[in-house]
Amino acid sequence: MELTFECPNCGAVDRTKNAESANGFVCRQCGHTRSAHAGSMTEAGLVHCPFCGTEKLYVQKDFPQGLGLAIVIAGFAWATWYWYQVRPLAAYTVLLGSALLDLVLWKKVPDVTICYRCLGQMRGPDVKPIGRFHPFDLEVGETFRQERMRVAELRKKQAAGSD
Ligand SMILES: [Zn+2]
Ligand SMILES: [Zn+2]
Repeated sequence: MELTFECPNCGAVDRTKNAESANGFVCRQCGHTRSAHAGSMTEAGLVHCPFCGTEKLYVQKDFPQGLGLAIVIAGFAWATWYWYQVRPLAAYTVLLGSALLDLVLWKKVPDVTICYRCLGQMRGPDVKPIGRFHPFDLEVGETFRQERMRVAELRKKQAAGSD
C-alpha cells in the first residue's frame, strides 16, 4: 500500500511506498518524522490509517477532480458546434460518446481510501476497501473537519505565544 500524507509540520505532501511496514513517515521537505501506527494491514486488508491510527476511513474513485466534468464540457461544446452546422445526429453522437467515455473511465479507475482525520490517501490492491469502508459521510467528515480546525487554531496560538 502506498500512503500519501500531508506533513503536519509544514503542510507538504509526501508519499511512502509499503506504508504498512514503515516504522515512521519522514517529510522530505522539513524532515519532520511521525511514527507509524503499526498493524494497519491485516490479511483481510486495511484496518486503520497507518499515519494517525484512525479507523474511520472512506473510499472514493481515484479520479482526478474535474476530469469527468472536462469531458462533459468538451463533449457539450463539440455537440453545440455540430448543432450550428445543423447536424443533429452528429451532435447527439458526440453527447452520447462523451457520456459513455465518462462511464467507462469511472468504471476503470481504482478506488482510493482516505482517512477522515488526517486525509491521508491509501492506494494499492492490498488495501481492499470494498465492503468495510463506505463513501464519504458528510456527518463524520464534518466532525473531523472541525477537529482539524481546532488543532490548526491551537497551533496558531502556540506559534503566536512562542514569538
Ligand atoms: Zn514537513
Ligand atoms: Zn489518518
